[in-house]
This record gives sequence, C-alpha cells and structure tokens, in this order.
Amino acid sequence: MSRIPPHIIDEIMQTSRIEEVIGEFVSLKKSGSNLKGLSPFVDEKSPSFMVSPAKQIFKCFSSGKGGTVVSFLMEKEHFSYPEALKWLADKYGIQVPEDKPQTAEEMAAITERESLYIINEFAKEHFMHNMHETNEGQNIGLSYFEERGFRKDIIQKFQLGYCLNSGDDFTKAALKKGYKKEYLESVGLTRTKEERSFDFFRGRVMFPIHSISGRVLGFGGRTLITDKKVAKYFNSPESIIYNKSEILYGLYFAKGDIIKYDNCFLCEGYTDVISMHQAGVPNSVASSGTSLTKEQIRLIKRYTQNITILYDGDAAGIKASFRGIDLILEEGMNVKVVLFPDGDDPDSYSKKVSTTELMDFIKANTQDFVSFKTSLLLAEGNNDPLQKAQIIRDVVHSISLIPDQITRSVFTTEIARVFGFDESIVINELNKLRKNNIARDLEEPQIAQNPAFTDTFTTPTPQSTTAQEVKNPYAIEEFELIRILVKYGIFAITTDHIDEHGVSHPVEVSVAELVHHELSKDELIFQYPIYQEIYQQIVEGLSSKTLYKISFWLRHEKPEVVQLITEIETDQYELSPKWLSKYNVDTNREVDKLKATVMNGIYAFKKLRIMQRIEQIQKDLNELAENITDEQLQDLLSEQIVLERVKMSIAGKLNQTIIH
Ligand code: ATP
Ligand code: MN
Repeated sequence: MSRIPPHIIDEIMQTSRIEEVIGEFVSLKKSGSNLKGLSPFVDEKSPSFMVSPAKQIFKCFSSGKGGTVVSFLMEKEHFSYPEALKWLADKYGIQVPEDKPQTAEEMAAITERESLYIINEFAKEHFMHNMHETNEGQNIGLSYFEERGFRKDIIQKFQLGYCLNSGDDFTKAALKKGYKKEYLESVGLTRTKEERSFDFFRGRVMFPIHSISGRVLGFGGRTLITDKKVAKYFNSPESIIYNKSEILYGLYFAKGDIIKYDNCFLCEGYTDVISMHQAGVPNSVASSGTSLTKEQIRLIKRYTQNITILYDGDAAGIKASFRGIDLILEEGMNVKVVLFPDGDDPDSYSKKVSTTELMDFIKANTQDFVSFKTSLLLAEGNNDPLQKAQIIRDVVHSISLIPDQITRSVFTTEIARVFGFDESIVINELNKLRKNNIARDLEEPQIAQNPAFTDTFTTPTPQSTTAQEVKNPYAIEEFELIRILVKYGIFAITTDHIDEHGVSHPVEVSVAELVHHELSKDELIFQYPIYQEIYQQIVEGLSSKTLYKISFWLRHEKPEVVQLITEIETDQYELSPKWLSKYNVDTNREVDKLKATVMNGIYAFKKLRIMQRIEQIQKDLNELAENITDEQLQDLLSEQIVLERVKMSIAGKLNQTIIH
C-alpha cells in the first residue's frame, strides 16, 4: 500500500469523529461529558468503555486499551495503520491518492491476513463487475436477482455479484494481478485439481459476507441450476480472516438500525436479510450456514438486549433451533419468536405483502419463547400426561437458564398459567435445575442487571434507620450477610479445599454453602430472630440440596420476611451509606467480585461476634470485680487475648478483601 501524504493524514484525523466511528461497533450512551458503553474487547456486564468526544480518545477500563480512532480501528479490525486511515478517508469522503501497483517486495511485506482481505475485496469488485458489465452476468446473474424481486439499489448496497461460468475467469484475473495462488485457495475462491485451477463459485450469484466494519471476509454463492444434486449454496471455507461462528450476515448493514430500534431480527439466510432490508425492516441479520452460536449472540448484544427470531413456516428445522433460544436466554437477553405461515420464509412473505402488512404481521405474531415452545411441543404430542410433564420440564429448563431472577419469575408465572398449575410446582422444578446451573452462573454472575427492572425497583429515597437497627446496633453486619445469602446464595464461587495431605484444591461451592460452612465452623448464628429464621431455612434447604431464589422468599408466609426480602431486592442496601462508610466498599459492582463481597460479609460478621464477646468479657470483669477468682480472671483475660488476636487477623483480611 502506498504511503499516505502527511497533509492527508492530518485531514483524516481532523475530520474523523471518534464517537461516530466507535458508535458503529458499540452502543454508546451519554455519561457526563463522555460516552459510555460495553467494551468491544472483553465480555462484560457493566460498561467500562469510555469515549471522550472532546479529547477524541477512548479508554477501556476492563482491558486497559486506549487511544485514538485510528488505534481503535487497528485493534478492533486488525487494520494496519494505513488501512485504518484509508477506512476513515472512505467514511468521510476524503480523497487519498491512488495506490501504486504493488511491487513483489511490497507484496511480500504485507501479512497473509491483509493479503486475504485484499483478495476478497478484489473478488467482490470482480464479481460485481462481471454481473453488471458482461453479457453473461447481465443475462444470468442480474436477471436472476431481478426476477427474485431485488431492487437495483439493494443489489448495489449488498454488493451482490456473479461468478462467470467459464471455469477460471476469476482465478486468471487474480493471478494476473499478482495474487498468490496459495492465498486464492486459502480463501476458497480457487480450487486446484490435478494441476488445473478453477473458480470454486463458477456459475453462481455471489453474496459477499462483511465484517462489522464492512470488509469482505467470505462469500455465499447460489447456483442458478435447479438440480437437486447440485448444492443450492456454496460457502467460503473458514480461514484466518473468516470464522463462521463469529460472523452474522448483514450485521454491517443492520447495526445502526439495531441500535435505533433496540431489537434485532434474526433470519435464516442471505435472501431473508436482503428482502427484509428491502421491505423496510433493516435491523435484520442471519446466522447463515451455521446454527446460532454464543459468539454471534454476543455480537448482537453489543447493540441490543432484544432478539426476535423469524422462523420459516415449515416446522422441520424449528426444534433443532431450540438450542439457539436457550443460548440467547443464557446471555441474559430477551428472545421473542415469530413463526411465518406454512411454506413461507421472511424472504417470500415480505415479497407478497406491503411493508405495513409485514410489520403488522410481525407485531401480531410475536410470541415469547414460553408460549412458542409450549404450543409447538403440545401441537406435536397428544394429551398424554407423561409427555406433558416432559414438555414442562423442557420449558422450565429454558427458564432456568435466565440469569435474572425477576425475569425468571415472570416466566414461571406464565408457564404455570399456560398449564393451569400451581406455581410452586414450577418453582420446585426450577430450583432443582438452578442448582445444576450454579457453576455456570459463576462464570457470569448477573443479578437483576436488566435496567428495565432495576430502574423500576429502585427507590431513590435515602435509607431510613429501621427499627431493628435501633434495637440492635450490630444489625448492619447481620443484615449484610443475610442480604448476601438471599441475593447470591445460589451462585457458585471457587474456594480452596485443603485435603488430608495438606494440598489445596480449588472447589466450587454455592455461596450459601460457603457461608454455612464458615458460620458453623465457629458455631455462629444470627441474633436477630427474622434473620436466624431465614438462615435456618437456608441451612435446611442445603441438607436437601435445595437453594432458594428470591421468589421463594417473596412467597414466605411471614410478612416480616417478605418485607425484608423486598427491601433487599430493591437494592437500597447495596448502597447503604452506613455500610459503605464502615467498610469502605464499592458495592456497585459487587456481582463482578462476588467472592470478595461474600468474604467481606463473613469476616465482618465474625468480627462483630468477637467484639460482642470482648464487650461481654469486659462486663463480666467489671461485675465480678473484687469477687473474681484467680482462675476466672485467668480464663477471661486469656480468652480476651485470643479474641483480640483473631480480631486483628480478621481486620487484616477485611482490608485485603476490600482492596481486591
Ligand atoms: P429458493 O429460491 O428455492 O427459496 P433460496 O435462495 O431462497 O432458495 P432457501 O432454500 O429458501 O434459499 O434458504 C433460505 C436461506 O437459507 C438462503 O437465503 C440461504 O442464505 C440460506 N441457506 C440455504 N441453504 C444454505 C446452505 N447450504 N448454506 C448456507 N446458507 C444456506
Ligand atoms: Mn427461499
């Protein structure tokens, strides 16, 4: 690539707006004078990625990365420096002097990765040119797309093309341009058999597959022959630039509209996406050629929390796609489903109706996954009660994957309603499954993070001193540990287990188990009766391998328990000024450092008990005064010394966990 003159670089840097460019990759929200979003470099739950429009820089507090708009593009898109500049020049309509033809040395210097991008770009241009400028292309390729009802502007926008049927037209042109045959083969455009090279996609219409920033990573090619023996679609193989499981077809075109409509429509393939765009529903993508992956879902998650899956009318493939629904739920995202009429897919249906009718159809037929799964499973089975029970288990399994408790209970209510069951049966089933899921929760602890819910449930009024705190000055430590138990009891954390040889092994336990272990070691219980009652019930649950979620407590027969749990759920205490000032803890992101939160709670609780005991010793010493026996004095004082020592060691641990 030729050098870009310095004055052009200046112009590019002055014209580019970092917030606009990064906004194409990350959904940014205003935060003071900065913009804030989820880091595109790490998977995170709370936004730590900052963009400063004033300073034209970004900083990712999770990964430590930071820099200018150019360094962002280099990092995110693996651009070289001149490539990043050229991308920006393109975006802002700045003319960069034409590339000089590449010499052999220049060519060799470019990394393989860049060569593959260049080859794909060349191929895309070549196929577009073939389609629009050659007779064969116009008569076969272009007329096919036109017969399908694709508009000219849409054909252009999606950079559709045609690979001539001659056999090696593309390969010849690419070799002539100086591209290595080896690279043409590794992107899958050229195949070589017995010394003869030919175009893999010959005679096919071409759908380029773009990265988020619009680079061509690969192609889909559709045959125009209606012969059952010929595969309808060919796809580029995976290569160092094309990882199928991490790409969504159409995302490059859809991302802005996904943010705008705060929803992403997920279709089956190329033609669906293109037709949806054409029909005026541009927030559509497809997981073409693969079943939906976690990585693809996370791509969407950068732009919205909401996915609507559009299914073909034929039910054949739908059951296989249930896994996709579960994956979306596991990511803590909302999933809705639309089933198209028999024999129709989004492509064919959108061609039959107007944009308004399409939107109306989608609106009227959007279902939540519970009613979708149940109605589908019920439709195929008879009324056999055993089968019904299996269906319920199946749907409850999906619900159990939702990380957010409040959302889970919404669906528990829904499924109980659909089947006319008592909700407690569903909850029981769910609890069993959640127990199995705690290990997964450890990886990604996420509690009531859905802002739609937390906003509704958080009361901004400052916390008033409750009666229990007046009665019991130490209640705050007890309260904190109960709050941790109720809120995070079902979560898993890793702790060390020392075996009989003194070797430590990491083991995974639920937070409830850990707290119970720590308290029973020292025979500690809660002094405040309601707390002790809750704790007692948690301990009993543990012995029968049951962990209770919030909705269980919210149904508790004692109103005091329900009241307490409600207070915990509204998160007021997470920011309790008293607790904050006492232990200097940032509880805002406590989910992100669950272990520290839990250990802090336990240590603080233990420290409280020790101080209570020391106080008692002082009192005893005073009361006994002159009547004290030598033996009593000795006992009390040595106990006090031990307690002071333990207190110091716990204070040290408290400090440590606070720092972490
Ligand atoms: P038709 O004109 O017969 O409806 P189509 O091109 O619309 O054919 P479909 O069979 O309806 O294709 O499939 C719908 C979508 O599924 C296509 O747009 C395509 O993206 C995707 N698809 C189908 N088969 C494959 C395949 N083998 N590999 C990748 N994607 C495929
Ligand atoms: Mn079709």
